[in-house]
Amino acid sequence: MAVVTRFAPSPTGPLHLGHAYSAILAHDMARAAGGRFLLRIEDIDRARARPKWEEAIYDDLTWLGLAWERPVVRQSDRLDFYRDALARLWSTGLLYECTCSRRDIEEASSAPQEGAAPRFGPDGLVYPGTCRTRPRGTVLPSGALRLDMAGAVRAAVTFYEEGAGPSGEGGTISIAPTDLVESIGDVVLARRDMGTSYHLSVVVDDAAQGVTHVTRGEDLFEATAIHVLLQRLLGLPTPVYHHHRLIRDEAGKRLAKRDDARAIRTYRDEGATPADIRRMVGLI
Ligand code: GLU
Repeated sequence: MAVVTRFAPSPTGPLHLGHAYSAILAHDMARAAGGRFLLRIEDIDRARARPKWEEAIYDDLTWLGLAWERPVVRQSDRLDFYRDALARLWSTGLLYECTCSRRDIEEASSAPQEGAAPRFGPDGLVYPGTCRTRPRGTVLPSGALRLDMAGAVRAAVTFYEEGAGPSGEGGTISIAPTDLVESIGDVVLARRDMGTSYHLSVVVDDAAQGVTHVTRGEDLFEATAIHVLLQRLLGLPTPVYHHHRLIRDEAGKRLAKRDDARAIRTYRDEGATPADIRRMVGLI
């Protein structure tokens, strides 16, 4: 099987050393295996994505010496595919419409109920379940949609136990059902303002592009559990995941997009070479 890797940045700020590390790892893995390296622009957050950052991504990656296949897939062009996947999940009864604001969720989570302290998952507060009992009609609503995690885990576990995994991978990946329900909870799969979400789009696109190996930071480890679950529910293959260490600053803090001091552009302006960048992230 040919190795297909990808780098999937969001054009919401400058690429920093952590992105360079992720991109180089994915690129070199594909090249070493004689495989394919793809670039995908994850621009579903229209409020934050900017063409100038997309241009800067191409510019920095070219400067780093990376080459990718064209045309580049842009998530904003693929909203219909995400809608189709949502419609399939909706028809299984595993999604429900959620009208809670962030404030509603905070209030419901801090209300004293059965002595349970609010929990934080990969997307923030674990959803307290307020809208879970709303009637689920036949027509896919256009508002925010959440995954009924307990129902999804039941469905996926049954699927898994029957040994009918989409690529016969049964037994290779274990999703701890209690972790998904208690520590992650009913994640949003369609945001009201986007009609989709990071989790759903990434799963649909990795499958559509035939990605076999996903290289991403270890901060996305819990997100990967959600993605594997969604692959099971949608009957999509599960790639091999490689979670790499995070590149941190001197204080041990992980780099963020707003951290311009560690932007590739800043190092370029200071006269660094691509080899210097590889050295800085520990790849030489
Ligand atoms: N757009 C995501 C990011 O920039 C992609 C990460 C991934 O799915 O591997 O963090």
